[in-house]
Amino acid sequence: MKEKIKKAAQLINSANYPVAFTGAGISAESGVPTFRGPDGLWNKHDPQEAVSLSSFRNQPKKFWQFARDLIISSGASPNPGHRALARLEKQGKLKSIITQNIDMLHQEAGSEKVLEIHGSLQKVDCQDCSQVYLWQELTATLKKDKLPRCDNCGSLRLKPRIVFFGERLPEDILQKSWAEAKRADLMLVIGSSLEVYPAAGIPELTRQNSGKLIYLNADRGSRTQLFDLIITGKAGKVLPKIADRVIQK
Ligand code: NAD
Ligand code: ZN
Repeated sequence: MKEKIKKAAQLINSANYPVAFTGAGISAESGVPTFRGPDGLWNKHDPQEAVSLSSFRNQPKKFWQFARDLIISSGASPNPGHRALARLEKQGKLKSIITQNIDMLHQEAGSEKVLEIHGSLQKVDCQDCSQVYLWQELTATLKKDKLPRCDNCGSLRLKPRIVFFGERLPEDILQKSWAEAKRADLMLVIGSSLEVYPAAGIPELTRQNSGKLIYLNADRGSRTQLFDLIITGKAGKVLPKIADRVIQK
């Protein structure tokens, strides 16, 4: 492990344009459940019902039950993994983070250049009138085990600005992410099973442009042939060690 951490730090230090690509795994140690895996949310909720646009129109309740589980430990705060990435950015050792996460924990940790390809929970739109809510305004209701309702028109169809199944990924963010991935001569892929396209194709772009790839994940995953360095471990444990090594140099 020590050797791998050293190698990762060397790769970061010698890169001109290192970027990170993160998935649900980086937030697992903050108490936010991942979708897949033994404790994954998909064991409890049917994704096609919980977060699909067509189902949301008729059964917004399914979404909100799912959302309650996602933020069950609401007040989830950034963990040492998020903070290590923010430290690297401040030192000029990380140019941007492309994330599949919707939990806003990178920004809370202090990262500034964050591309959220699946959107974020921050703003919530009433689908039946023009009212906009902040996620924080609604979480109190959720914690009481109630469904949030629009103050203005009474609708239950309050939809956060995240990408549901059946929706397109935000084109502008996707374009920027592709540009970052192509420009990167090193990408750290952290806590993602790489099973969901088009997101999973992002590290492939770095590779196609001769960039190097590091995979830091709790398990080895199924795409091992893609990577120059594979570190099997927890993001919150390993990233601070890598950042310490990079920064001490
Ligand atoms: P995923 O659930 O498919 O995979 C998560 C990966 O993280 C797994 O391979 C797992 O082994 C690994 N992992 C678990 N704990 C880890 C840890 N402590 N350190 C390092 N790795 C760890 O997640 P994904 O690939 O990001 O899934 C894609 C979809 O899930 C995205 O659409 C994303 O928006 C959504 N999602 C987001 C959140 C969030 O915002 N926090 C949470 C769950 C799912
Ligand atoms: Zn309304």
